[in-house]
Amino acid sequence: MDSMDYDVIILGGGPAGLTAGLYSSRAALKTLLVERMMVGGQVMTTTKIENYPGFPGGIDGPELVARFHEHCQEFGLEILYGEAQSLNVAGEMKEVTVDGRVLRARAVIVTTGAEPRKLGIPGEQQYAGRGVSYCATCDGAFFKNVPVVVVGGGDTAAEEALFLTRFASKVYLVHRRDQLRATKILQERLFAHDKIEVIWNSTPEQVLGTASGVTAVEIRNRKTGEHRHIETEGVFFAIGVIPKAHFLAELLSLNEEGYIVTDGECGTTVPGVFAAGDVRSKLLKQIATAVGDGAVAAIAAEKYLLEH
Ligand code: NAP
Repeated sequence: MDSMDYDVIILGGGPAGLTAGLYSSRAALKTLLVERMMVGGQVMTTTKIENYPGFPGGIDGPELVARFHEHCQEFGLEILYGEAQSLNVAGEMKEVTVDGRVLRARAVIVTTGAEPRKLGIPGEQQYAGRGVSYCATCDGAFFKNVPVVVVGGGDTAAEEALFLTRFASKVYLVHRRDQLRATKILQERLFAHDKIEVIWNSTPEQVLGTASGVTAVEIRNRKTGEHRHIETEGVFFAIGVIPKAHFLAELLSLNEEGYIVTDGECGTTVPGVFAAGDVRSKLLKQIATAVGDGAVAAIAAEKYLLEH
């Protein structure tokens, strides 16, 4: 192996990637984790995590990530900041291109996660960063004492709506059905909050604004066809996520939603390439399951290296 060669390269530094990195470096495998921006992934934009065991009362996302990171450093995990553009598995060593530089490894673990889905309505892209946001914890504080709109009915939408009540004068939650997908405990908190109004069976049709940013959102009731104009400076879309696996579409088997298909040990359709966390097709996408996946993928990679 030359000095640029690794036993394991991990693509992505969220909870799955960091856990795989912890296990792999602790197993004395020469491991490199490649991260595009900053470690932590979606957890970095989460305020309070209440369902990760070991932290009664909850823990803030960035604090949990800092602990994961520090723990990995204890075992000497090497982290490279850059964007993985492609993976080539034709030769004996797998090749990962990161910002034009080729790195080689005997096994690769893909933990690239998922990113917020865009609705694709007029004004959404135009006002992104000027009132349209996909992250309440990042941008919520810009909207003090003004009404805001959250779109979606899942856990993210519910958490974002609740978080935004700290700043906004009122939070409209616009959901396309008459029932939320979010867990019961979040629903109860939402319905009990006097600043939150849920607008059922409705979807936004257009984000309106001026040169200085968003001024309103136009929504339509899917049952009655009625339109409603909500004056607001902030629209937060929380309509789910899409997996970041497109760059691997020609190499790995993806399901119809674009998630990487794996076996029970996080193995993909390519021997020596594993997938863990939110980018993998599975029932439950949470920090606890990402961590479990990361551990399984690292041990499966170690087993693969022993056998090959
Ligand atoms: P999600 O569970 O997929 O929910 C997406 C929501 O957006 C759904 O309510 C969906 O409506 C709505 N939606 C989707 N496409 C839409 C469209 N084109 N127009 C209007 N509405 C649309 O996504 P998420 O809330 O981001 O959560 C992702 C995963 O992370 C889930 O597994 C979730 O449990 C997990 N998560 C967990 C926590 C936690 O445990 N505390 C926190 C955040 C996220 P329908 O309901 O009609 O489909």
